[in-house]
Amino acid sequence: MAERRKFKKRYCRYCEQKVEFIDYKDLSMLKFSLSERFKIMPRRLTGNCKKHQEMVSKAIKRARQTALIPYIVDRKNVVENPFDIIK
Ligand SMILES: [Zn+2]
Repeated sequence: MAERRKFKKRYCRYCEQKVEFIDYKDLSMLKFSLSERFKIMPRRLTGNCKKHQEMVSKAIKRARQTALIPYIVDRKNVVENPFDIIK
């Protein structure tokens, strides 16, 4: 599984950077918890702590509503790094 390899070390990336609040406009923060098809990564893969996983999932849902992140990705649109499109 390609997705799994990215998250080999299990620690909370947000705790490491001492993030207190995750802004939905800050996509560089959210991308740690998004899969290549813009799905929210489960905590068992990312190693996020519960507090930050809840924050991140809320932020991602808000970002979807404001069209910063797509809800669904077509098979045609799947690329190696989806964040190249955003920038
Ligand atoms: Zn954390």
